[in-house]
Amino acid sequence: MTDTHDLISRNAVFAAERFTSGLRINPSGNMMVVGCVDPRVDPSHVLGLSLGEAAVIRNVGGRITPATLRTMAMLGKVGQANPEGRPEGDWNLVILHHTDCGMTDLAPYHDLLAEYFEIPVDELPDKAVSDPYESVRRDVDILLSELRGSQFLVTGLVYDVDTGVIDTVVPPTPLRTP
Ligand SMILES: [Zn+2]
Repeated sequence: MTDTHDLISRNAVFAAERFTSGLRINPSGNMMVVGCVDPRVDPSHVLGLSLGEAAVIRNVGGRITPATLRTMAMLGKVGQANPEGRPEGDWNLVILHHTDCGMTDLAPYHDLLAEYFEIPVDELPDKAVSDPYESVRRDVDILLSELRGSQFLVTGLVYDVDTGVIDTVVPPTPLRTP
């Protein structure tokens, strides 16, 4: 077990040596990442993000569920409430799926997954829970249709937990015009 005292010691080093003051609530990189909770795929590490650069949403599988969309809508309101220091230009919304995802272990749990995605059980094959390359395409498609008309590019990536290398499955794609 990682000890809490150890964490506080690490934080002291962070606060003394790596903390950046004056960061804004709006991501400096005009960027949001949706990724998996898997400890091997922390977007800050595998994408080399800086503190304050991106908003990161993590859930099981890094999936675009109704709950993810609600969270994104809430973050949009937070952005509107903090217009000062908000970077201009398009946003990069990155969906980061990965190989060997625990989602695969959940495939037999149909009711659990149907509840998670808020869909009927018979639509679960559409979610491609056992194939990160296909699931990231499906989730990009959801964002492209749900966020219509906004200034977003949507990108679909798959991280290989065996090599540390990311595949660009869906290159940055602008939203379809309404
Ligand atoms: Zn995962």
